[in-house]
Amino acid sequence: MRRDELLFVPLGGAGEIGLNLNLYGLGGQWLMVDLGISFADEMLPGVEIILPDPRFIEGRSEDLCGLVLTHAHEDHFGAIPYLWQRLRCPIWCTRFTAAVLRRKLDESHLKGVPVNIVAPGERFRIGPFDCELIQVTHSIPEAHALALRTPLGNVLHTGDWKLDPAPLLGALTGTDALEAFGHEGVLAMVGDSTNILNPGTSGSEAEVRDSLMELIGRQTTRVVMTTFASNVARLETAIKVAAACGREVAAVGRSMRRMIDAAREVGYLQDVPDLLDERTAAELPRDRVLWLSTGCQGEPRAALTRIAAGQHPTLALEPGDVVIFSSKIIPGNERTLYNLHNSLIRAGIEVITEEDHFVHVSGHPCRDEIEQMYRWIKPRIAIPVHGEARHLHEHRAFARRLGVPEVIEVRNGDMVRLAPAPAEVVEEVPTGRLVLENDGLIAAGDDLFRTRRRLMAHGTVLVGLVLDAYGTLLAAPQLSTFGAVGLDQEPGLKVGVQNAIEDAVEALEDEAALDDEQIRGSVRAAVRRAFRLVRERRPIIEVQITRLGREALEGLLDEAGAV
Ligand SMILES: [Zn+2]
Ligand SMILES: [Zn+2]
Repeated sequence: MRRDELLFVPLGGAGEIGLNLNLYGLGGQWLMVDLGISFADEMLPGVEIILPDPRFIEGRSEDLCGLVLTHAHEDHFGAIPYLWQRLRCPIWCTRFTAAVLRRKLDESHLKGVPVNIVAPGERFRIGPFDCELIQVTHSIPEAHALALRTPLGNVLHTGDWKLDPAPLLGALTGTDALEAFGHEGVLAMVGDSTNILNPGTSGSEAEVRDSLMELIGRQTTRVVMTTFASNVARLETAIKVAAACGREVAAVGRSMRRMIDAAREVGYLQDVPDLLDERTAAELPRDRVLWLSTGCQGEPRAALTRIAAGQHPTLALEPGDVVIFSSKIIPGNERTLYNLHNSLIRAGIEVITEEDHFVHVSGHPCRDEIEQMYRWIKPRIAIPVHGEARHLHEHRAFARRLGVPEVIEVRNGDMVRLAPAPAEVVEEVPTGRLVLENDGLIAAGDDLFRTRRRLMAHGTVLVGLVLDAYGTLLAAPQLSTFGAVGLDQEPGLKVGVQNAIEDAVEALEDEAALDDEQIRGSVRAAVRRAFRLVRERRPIIEVQITRLGREALEGLLDEAGAV
C-alpha cells in the first residue's frame, strides 16, 4: 500500500447479502468494519455457517489496527468467535453490541478479546483513522453509520440503516449529524443496497405495532409470534400488545432469551412486564399467553421448527392456534419457510405472514430514503455494498441519476483507491468463503462439498474386489448401492452386474491387471454399462481392491485346512 493513498477493500458483503467484511487502508495501516457470517444454502449440504475468507488481512494482521462493529446482527459481527484469533485486533462498538458480543464470546469460550465501548457522537482514534459512530435506525438497537475523517478525505460507511419517524425503541437516524458530516465534505459513501429495488419508504415500526395490536387483540386462542430475536423493538411491541390484550408473554428459544437479557442489561425493555417462564406459561389457558419464538426463517434447530414438529418440551400447539411470522420471507429461503407453513397448516394451525397481513417492516432503506441520504452526504464517490450483484448494479444507476460524479461497482476482493483521484479498482486481492465443518474452517470450494452434492443427487455404488497379486479374482465381487440404483427392483440385476465386473477384470491384459487404477477404471465402466446408466446419472462408483499376496493366501488356505 502506498502511504499517500486511501483504500477500500470489501472481503465480504459485496455481491451478496451477508458475511460483511470491509477494510479501509491508509498510511500502511488497516481498519476493519464488521466481520459477519451468513447461512449456507443447499449448495453446501450439511453446512450451517459460512464466513468470509480473511486471508488477505490475516497475512498483514500486524497492520490491522482495529475492528469497528456497526451493529450486532450476525451478518456484521457473527464471525468474530471463529476468526478473531487469526486477527487479534481490538474491537470498538457501543454498549448493546458489546453486551450481545460478550454473551457470544462466553458461549464460544473465547477470552482476552479487547472490546472498547464508545458512545455515538464520540470521536475516537484507531490508527490513522478519526472515527465517529452516527446513530441510525435499523431492526436492532444501536445500529450506526461510521464517519471516518482522514487527511485524504472523509468517508461515510452507512452500515445497515433506514429512516423511521417512530422506531419505538432505539434511536432515530441522526439526520443532523449526517447532514453536518455532509457539510464537512465527504469523499466517499459506502452504502446499504438491500432495498434499492423497492420504491418509496420502508415504513414505520409504530405502524406494525398498531397492526399487531388489532390482529392479536381479536384472537381467542393460543398465539405464537416469531421474529428475529435481535429486533428488540418488535419484541417490545409483542410484550406491550400482549399486556393490552390481557395475555402474559413467554419467550422460547435460546437466542430470544439471550437477546432480551442483553437488551435489559443496557437499559432497554425496562417499562414492560416481566416474562413468564415456559412451564408456568404452559399451564395457563391458551388465550392468556402470547408466545415469542425464534425460528422465523424456519431454521432447522430453532424453537418454532421443533414446535411445529411436535418436539418442543413445553409448548404443544393445537388446532385453531395462530402462528404469526412477524418477519421478512428472505429471498432464497421461501421453500424452507413454505414447508414450515404447510406443516403448521396441515396441523390445523392458522399461519399469518407478511404476505397476507401487515406484520413486518424492513430495517433497510428503500429508494426514497437512499435518495435522502445522498442529499445529506453529497459524496464525490459512491460505492454500493450490502447487496447481490443485481442490487449493487441498480444502486450504481440510482446514484448516477442523483448526480454522484463517480460510482464504483465492486466485488469482494476489489481494492478501490478512493484518493488520490480518480477512484478506481487498482488491484484484486484474495477472497472467498470459509465454512464451519467439524469445528474447523475449510474453503467453501473444497472437493468435500462437490462430493456431497453428487452423493445427494446421484448416490453411490460400492464395489469390493479381492484379487491375488496377479489380478485374479479370489471371490465374487461385493456390490452395494446407496441412493443410486435400486438393486432389488430387477431380479437378476445384481448377478448380472457382478458377472460384468468379473468379465471386466478377467479381460484385463496382464500388465493392466497389476495396476489398481486401471482395474478401477475398467470396473467403473463395466458397472455403468451393466446398470445401463444414462449420461445424466453419475453416481460415485467406488471400487475397493484388496490384494492377497502368496503368503497371505497360503495363510488363509492353511486356516481353512485346505492344504
Ligand atoms: Zn446487514
Ligand atoms: Zn443489520
